[in-house]
Amino acid sequence: MNFHIMTLFPELIENAASTSILGRAIQAGLITVNAVDIRAYTDNKHGRVDDYTYGGGAGMLMQAQPIYDCHQAIVKDILSGKNTVDSDASGSEDGSPRGGRIRTIYMTPQAPVFSQEKAVELAAEDDLIFLCGHYEGVDERVLEEIVTDNISIGDYVLTGGELPALVCIDAIARLVPGVLGNEVSSETESFDDGLLEYPQYSRPEEWRGKKVPEILLSGHHANVEKWRHEQSLIRTKERRPDLYEAYMNKVNEQAK
Ligand code: SAH
Repeated sequence: MNFHIMTLFPELIENAASTSILGRAIQAGLITVNAVDIRAYTDNKHGRVDDYTYGGGAGMLMQAQPIYDCHQAIVKDILSGKNTVDSDASGSEDGSPRGGRIRTIYMTPQAPVFSQEKAVELAAEDDLIFLCGHYEGVDERVLEEIVTDNISIGDYVLTGGELPALVCIDAIARLVPGVLGNEVSSETESFDDGLLEYPQYSRPEEWRGKKVPEILLSGHHANVEKWRHEQSLIRTKERRPDLYEAYMNKVNEQAK
């Protein structure tokens, strides 16, 4: 799977993607993270990429032309197979992306908030393009031309779209087969069944007078599973009553 990130700060993306699990996935050829510098595409001879907003107001706005040309170049590269790894089943036989339009995501606070569900949906794509805004944001006209999805990471305003894009890339990449390896599993995780994960313990059996719950040492698989499910329910009810209510509604619906 290939991530293409349009940004004014490619080093921010490259640094974050070069370590830990993402870094290993890149090394292993499972994903590519291609940070593309928008500034390299400006027609302005002084390298400008931003200007004042029409109608007045404080702050600078990222201009349409450099972003549009940057996007065109990325799409061209994707269609010619440059900077990409082949992944599994998605895409059509001839290698062109589904429906001919490559998902292009603008990171913006003005959008529905990112979720595990959205991560699963986007993980089915071969290529994703992210646009990171900065300053006051981006000229609306280029957004209309290239963006297929708007995603926010929460109801607060950040200085740029790079951290939000990395949040999405991290959540999506760990769903790509092979990325997590053996030591971590994405199978029984928070949100998978609409519940938060149960508490977990590792060695030693006792630490600062606190013992690991007896049942986890019993070796009785069915009882352990039952205990974990109960703990998930308790935890979700306490910490995320909204998720708990949705889960109970679903369960009651299925029981009908
Ligand atoms: N004036 C804009 C905010 C600009 S913040 C507004 O009121 O909507 C600068 C950039 O940071 C944005 O273009 C966007 O790419 C990114 N950004 C800020 N907060 C974000 C959030 N919660 N989720 C996703 N991207 C965000």
